[in-house]
Amino acid sequence: MAAQIIDGKAFAATVREKVAGHVARLKEEHNITPGLAVVLVGEDPASQVYVRSKGKQTVEVGMNSVEHKLDVDTSEADLLALVDQLNNDPAIHGILVQLPLPKHLDEDLVINSISPAKDVDGFHISNVGLLSTGQKSMVPCTPLGCLMMLRDHHGSLSGMNAVVVGRSNIVGKPMAQLLLGDSCTVTIAHSRTKDLPDVVRRADIVVAAVGRPEMVPGDWIKEGATVIDVGINRIERDGKNVLVGDVDFASASERAGAITPVPGGVGPMTIACLLANTVTACCRANGLAEPEGLTA
Ligand code: NDP
Repeated sequence: MAAQIIDGKAFAATVREKVAGHVARLKEEHNITPGLAVVLVGEDPASQVYVRSKGKQTVEVGMNSVEHKLDVDTSEADLLALVDQLNNDPAIHGILVQLPLPKHLDEDLVINSISPAKDVDGFHISNVGLLSTGQKSMVPCTPLGCLMMLRDHHGSLSGMNAVVVGRSNIVGKPMAQLLLGDSCTVTIAHSRTKDLPDVVRRADIVVAAVGRPEMVPGDWIKEGATVIDVGINRIERDGKNVLVGDVDFASASERAGAITPVPGGVGPMTIACLLANTVTACCRANGLAEPEGLTA
């Protein structure tokens, strides 16, 4: 049976609508406009595209967008001084330093210099600790988007077997923490995992975050499982550049109960969740009730 397609593009639009509604209420009732600052160092083409898209969507939901574009040879001291200035700016509620940074800059140092309350990427060590101890935190955007889609599809995830393939700090590990928080039985697989096909076949929920085009074939997928494909891989096929995920969509969608496509699955949810995190950070900063359904 062909799987139900989980439409991340449509779902992201509903998240943005919720964010926009909340932003409008913040303005009307409290005279507050959430502000997101994005810092881009250098001219990495993919990062430039992301930053443009983030800025555009931030403005579309009614928030203030501030972009700081710094030269590729910006010193660490200058970058840290900018982060410090943004940390102390009451009009800025979210700060995102676009990764990857040029090699001469220490990413961990820079990320950990962002105020945890404004760390809308959820990468600060304090937010990582808060998430892993089940406390209120800022949650990394991509895993948050995956969780929202899973909750929307299943309602409760309690007791389900979830396998996350990939153990990166930005996707795999926080995804596993979120699934654990929703009472799944979680397995984290990685490049050293033995008999990966067998591990994946036991999953009711598969989250693939590997970065290898179409690595997970349909015959690894348990009949009826839900498949969330985080991978974004650019490959050449039939003489054209195409985007594919980490899952072989054609064969996996024959066995899965539900599956996210690439493009149009997890991708659009990531920026939508960045906007959600910014409005959440703004509410917390002002001691106001958080928007429902936009946090973990
Ligand atoms: P990383 O490269 O940081 O991590 C990849 C993970 O996959 C590692 O843990 C690695 O294991 C594991 N892995 C690699 N090869 C294998 C293998 N053969 N079998 C099992 N596991 C393997 O990637 P990210 O987490 O940053 O990103 C993963 C994918 O998600 C990429 O395609 C990226 O483009 C995409 N992405 C999409 C986003 C979106 O908005 N949709 C956002 C962020 C990422 P080990 O640790 O052992 O090396």
